[in-house]
Amino acid sequence: MRAHGLDGDRFDGGHLAGDDRLRDDARLECGICWHVYDPAEGDPVWQVPAGTPFSALPAHWRCPVCDGPREKFLLLGSER
Ligand SMILES: [Zn+2]
Repeated sequence: MRAHGLDGDRFDGGHLAGDDRLRDDARLECGICWHVYDPAEGDPVWQVPAGTPFSALPAHWRCPVCDGPREKFLLLGSER
């Protein structure tokens, strides 16, 4: 009987439960040039189809405006 085991189970099943979990429709703003990536529009510069969540962007994706790395992008608050 160890509480420890329960924690292990949660880790196995819940990889998405983190601080910076991203919703599929989350918009992110470039911290350098304020360009906004909107999943509803995708990114024509990188030929990313509309409906692609930020988390599914290719690893080499960078800001199409200023070429900033994706870790510079900040989550925009939902206004809905
Ligand atoms: Zn930028």
